[in-house]
Amino acid sequence: MKIAFYDTKEYDKVWFEKLAVEYGYEIIFYESRFVADTAILANGCDAVCLFVNDVIEEKSINMLCDMGVKTILLRCAGYDNIDLKACEGKITVMRVPSYSPTAVAEYAIALFLTLNRKIHKAYTRTREFNFKISGLTGITLRGKTAGVIGTGKIGKIMIEILSGFGMNVLAYDPYPDTSLNVQYVTIDELLKNSDMITLHCPLSPDTRYIINKNSISKMKDGVFLINTSRGGLVDTQALNDGLRSNKFMGVALDVYEEEDEYFFEDRSNDIIKDDELIKLMAYPNVIITSHQAFFTHESLEAIARVSLDNLKAFVDGAPLENEVKYQAK
Ligand code: NAD
Repeated sequence: MKIAFYDTKEYDKVWFEKLAVEYGYEIIFYESRFVADTAILANGCDAVCLFVNDVIEEKSINMLCDMGVKTILLRCAGYDNIDLKACEGKITVMRVPSYSPTAVAEYAIALFLTLNRKIHKAYTRTREFNFKISGLTGITLRGKTAGVIGTGKIGKIMIEILSGFGMNVLAYDPYPDTSLNVQYVTIDELLKNSDMITLHCPLSPDTRYIINKNSISKMKDGVFLINTSRGGLVDTQALNDGLRSNKFMGVALDVYEEEDEYFFEDRSNDIIKDDELIKLMAYPNVIITSHQAFFTHESLEAIARVSLDNLKAFVDGAPLENEVKYQAK
């Protein structure tokens, strides 16, 4: 089997190259992202391996099918970037549903603690021998309320960790898990009562802009918002308005709705034209990172192994546990 691997970074190669030998597959690594113009690079391959910011539209899906590519291996959990309807009956799509929910949850907590205790500011101060602590006050978490939106694999671990801090945890999920030791509430109750809100639901037509002008207005003043899920969950313009009106104690974003222009790339010498991103960067109480919540050694190994296992199952005609299919509403 020959795989065209798009949007390659040096850290992707470490495990994919090593495991490809074990599985007996050939991988051709391309730095280009997957778009209609680069789909041709997959000519002669049996599979393509794609990531979160590859744009997988009908036109390029048809090109893949015409070239005889049989399967799309998404090396990520989310699949909001692919036109599944266009794939139906033509090409098999598989993903890595869970490579390390713990890594993402731990990172969301790291962002929250950094924001709250202003460790990012303290770090730069002390590097310049400025040992003043004025302006670095945070809140004690024990007894405060955390709101977890989405109680799947990552949300569950967040609930455990936040409870461990002695926080009261409220949860919202349209499909509650009754085995969990958490208080499920309506989304409005969660917004109204939480001192920090953390997003762990997938991006879908139902969840797009779940954080918007209206939902922000229902939150407590001085709330923390953490998004490690998908950028499209948050209406950035409404978020910027909220920040300007001093609604938030802090906002941490590991994902951003227009991230595909910037994330994972060095744009430090470029003129950034995204005004909403520039505004976000200007707030002292905002931390933005570049979709790195998953980024641990263990996750990288799991991503490579599950992606290649997915292909093996496809080749062997075995059940495709990680197949994603179009679901009509
Ligand atoms: P999961 O499928 O296990 O859980 C998602 C949960 O969201 C489910 O319980 C589902 O019922 C719930 N949900 C669905 N619609 C909802 C709604 N309208 N409101 C509230 N909850 C809703 O997924 P997971 O593994 O926990 O991952 C969650 C998300 O995290 C993924 O969809 C992905 O976008 C994101 N993610 C980000 C990174 C990163 O590096 N930043 C890495 C992995 C995953």
